[in-house]
Amino acid sequence: METILFLAHTEADGTLGKAAFEALAAARNLAGGLAGSTLIAGLVGGDVQPAANQIASCGAVKILGVTGADFAPSRYATDIVAVEALTRAAAATLVVAPATSRWNRVFAGAAQRLGGRIDTHATNVSAADGKPGITRWYYRQRMEAVVQRTRRPWFILLDPGCGAAWTGTAGAAQVETIPVALTAASKHTAVTGVQAPSADQQTIRPDAKLLFVAGAGWTKTQPDGRAHSDEAEQLILDFLARTKASLGSTKSLVDLSGEGQAVLKFMTHLNQVGQTGSTPRHTKGLATCCHGEEPHTVGWRFINERRAVNLNPGCSWAQGKADVLYVADAFAVMRHVNALLAARA
Ligand SMILES: Cc1cc2nc3c(=O)[nH]c(=O)nc-3n(C[C@H](O)[C@H](O)[C@H](O)COP(=O)(O)OP(=O)(O)OC[C@H]3O[C@@H](n4cnc5c(N)ncnc54)[C@H](O)[C@@H]3O)c2cc1C
Repeated sequence: METILFLAHTEADGTLGKAAFEALAAARNLAGGLAGSTLIAGLVGGDVQPAANQIASCGAVKILGVTGADFAPSRYATDIVAVEALTRAAAATLVVAPATSRWNRVFAGAAQRLGGRIDTHATNVSAADGKPGITRWYYRQRMEAVVQRTRRPWFILLDPGCGAAWTGTAGAAQVETIPVALTAASKHTAVTGVQAPSADQQTIRPDAKLLFVAGAGWTKTQPDGRAHSDEAEQLILDFLARTKASLGSTKSLVDLSGEGQAVLKFMTHLNQVGQTGSTPRHTKGLATCCHGEEPHTVGWRFINERRAVNLNPGCSWAQGKADVLYVADAFAVMRHVNALLAARA
C-alpha cells in the first residue's frame, strides 16, 4: 500500500506553475493505478493557500503545507527541511514532484536524509502489476527504460512537458500546516532578490509551441561572397519577438560564439539542442541554416513536427529527419516570413 505525496512549491504569486500541474496529473494517475494507495498533497511557499485552492478538487485526502516568509524563496537549507518535514508528516512512500530548478537542487539531499532513493528526469510514472514504475530515457533519448524500485521513500522528479497538466475546478481548500523549526544555520544564505532578463531578452521558452533553431549557416559566407551576421541577428530576433518562439542552436553556432567570433550575440551554450545539448519538447520545430546531423537531431526526439530551411537539398534533414525540407535561402525565407507576420499584426 503506497502513500503518494504530490510535492510542489509555489511560484512567487502563491500559485502553482504548469510543471506542478503535470506532476499532479501523474501522481493522480499513479494513485488510480495502485489499489489501496493514498494521495496526499504537500505545498511549500510563502503563502500556499492560493495553490491549495487551485488543487482543492484534485482528490488528495489532505493538503499539507510548509509556509512562511522563510519558505518563499528558493534556498537549499530551508527547502530541504520543508521537503523532509512534509515527507515525514505524510509518511510518504512515493514522492512525485515537478523537476523545477528549485526542486532539482534539493530533492537528492532530502532523499539521502530520509534514507530513500531518487530518480530524476522521469518522463512518466505508472503502475504495472500493482507496482509503481517510472519511464526514463537513456543514451540521449535513444532508449527508453521502465524503472521499478523497492526502497522507500522513493522520490521521483518528473521532467516538465512530458504529460498533460491536471485541470480541475478550484475551491476553498483546508491546509494542514506542518511546523518546521529553523536554525540560524538554515538561514545562513540570504536571498536578496532575483535578477532575470526581461521576457523579450529571454530566448529559451520551454512553453512555446515553436522551437526555432539557428545553425552555423547564418554566419557563413553567402552567395554574394560575404557573411551577413548582423542581418541574421536582426531577422532571428525579429521573428522571436513576433512569434514568442523558443530559440535553439546547433553546437557549431554556439561554439563559434564561445570563441568570440562576430556571431549571434544572444546565443549561448544554453540554447544548444542535441546529444550534448538539451532535448526540448515543443509541438513544432523549424531549423534554419542547420545541417541536421545526427548528434544535433537526437535532441529533436520529442519535437512532433520538424521543418528545415537549407540551401543544400542533400543536407541531413533531407535524409528523413525532417517532415518538410524547404530548399531555399533562409535569409530570403525569414525576411518574407517576418514581413507576413508584420502585415498580420
Ligand atoms: C560527440 C558529438 C556530440 C555532438 N553534439 C552536438 C549537439 O548536442 N548539438 C549539435 O547541434 N551538434 C552536436 N554535434 C555537432 C554536429 O555533429 C554538427 O557538427 C553540428 O550540429 C553542425 O552544425 P550546423 O548545422 O549549424 O553547421 P554546418 O554543418 O556548418 O551546416 C550549416 C548549414 O547551413 C546551410 N546554409 C548556409 N547558408 C544558408 C542559407 N542562406 N540558407 C539556408 N541554409 C544555409 C548549409 O547548407 C549547411 O547545411 C556533436 C558532434 C559530436 C562529434
